[in-house]
Amino acid sequence: MKYCLSVILMFLLLTGVSYCQYSDKWRAGSALTLNGRIYVLTVFISESEWDYNEKKALYDRLYEAEGWLAEQAGHYGKTLVFEGGEYGLNSTVIMDHIAEGRASGNEPVDLVSIVLRRVGYSSNARFVEWVRGNTGCDNFLVLIFADKAGTGYSMACSSEMDMEKYFLEGCILYKNYSNNRPLAAASIAHEILHLFGAWDLYATFSQTKDREEKARQLFPNDVMLRVSYNIRELNIGPLTAWLTGLSDRKEDWFEWFRPRSRDEQAVRGSLCLPCALKK
Ligand SMILES: [Zn+2]
Repeated sequence: MKYCLSVILMFLLLTGVSYCQYSDKWRAGSALTLNGRIYVLTVFISESEWDYNEKKALYDRLYEAEGWLAEQAGHYGKTLVFEGGEYGLNSTVIMDHIAEGRASGNEPVDLVSIVLRRVGYSSNARFVEWVRGNTGCDNFLVLIFADKAGTGYSMACSSEMDMEKYFLEGCILYKNYSNNRPLAAASIAHEILHLFGAWDLYATFSQTKDREEKARQLFPNDVMLRVSYNIRELNIGPLTAWLTGLSDRKEDWFEWFRPRSRDEQAVRGSLCLPCALKK
């Protein structure tokens, strides 16, 4: 049975949830607003040599995700242009140890700094300086592909964090999920959206089951609720569009979906289970 909007609104009001004002602190860091030119630095990391074709297949999936994001932005009247560079496609960036994302909330959140140093930047600030001086992109992020199975996560910034350390935002995607099925382009789009402020709409350590159930009624195909190997069946719903800056249209009930502890989530990174794929 489908709920009409007024019934849902009534439900939300009756739950007695207090609505706090949206604060700008979530909108911080190098991936600020999903609009204009966006620079994506992709880095392929592995603990040993990594087959070129496998890496290329992941890179193609990133293109697919970016194309889909640009198309979705178009529905909201925004133009996205993705630019980027890479390290490791031809000669893998070898790391001593790559932690496996387990959606525990305790994954390393300083991976962007570690990987950037590994490819030759003395600090995050040097890379930021380079992007600003050479690309003219308004927003930028680091996307890490790991030659491992695991649950991807994002390392988003909030203004309450150490900006010098966390201003440059990034995410890690593993070539396979923990169940060894291959990574879907939708998960790449999902993690990128986190960096621009999107909230998970499925149950996690910081999101409740009742919010997931409500999201299933309101935004059944939102990429923050579920992912699919067919990205064409997914979309960016109104809440995610507002959070990421694609839309200015805010509804009061959006606040009800705010993760339980946003700051905690930001510090630890937003950890994502590939909901649709685990079934
Ligand atoms: Zn997520």
